[in-house]
Amino acid sequence: MPPEGKEIEAEMDKVQCHCGRRAYIRPSWRDNNPGRRFLGCAKHGHMDACSFFMWVDPLMCARSREAISGLLRRTTQLEKEIQLCKQIENKVMAYAVVFLVFFLLWNLFSGKKKKEESSLFQRGSRTHIRRRHGEEVWINDKAKEVHDKITKKIAEQS
Ligand SMILES: [Zn+2]
Repeated sequence: MPPEGKEIEAEMDKVQCHCGRRAYIRPSWRDNNPGRRFLGCAKHGHMDACSFFMWVDPLMCARSREAISGLLRRTTQLEKEIQLCKQIENKVMAYAVVFLVFFLLWNLFSGKKKKEESSLFQRGSRTHIRRRHGEEVWINDKAKEVHDKITKKIAEQS
């Protein structure tokens, strides 16, 4: 900062508002004075703030004011777009989590089902044994023979 600027800053520090407190430097964000700093009441924003007001920066030329206003509008627009993108991102993440949970549950369930079906003993019993008068009866002797063979083989392997 040039010495001239520093001197101005030092002078600004001494300025008091009508309340007798050190006035506060703030930037204006109105379209006609975008970014132009002013001194205001220390209690700015409170009910008992005084009406003290003094510009710090000189008035800008119309071209500069227009350019800054345009940049501010663009910034606001971009901030809105970022917020929208974040909302979409959050939704996509939520859907992804739900999908993943369902996928894992489905995988778990279908895995269990496959394991059940892979047991030849159970499969054979289900398809070749019928209940007749409360008794389990094999459909035919060949089926019983094959089933016994498979059961024996499984018993040997394990
Ligand atoms: Zn004041």
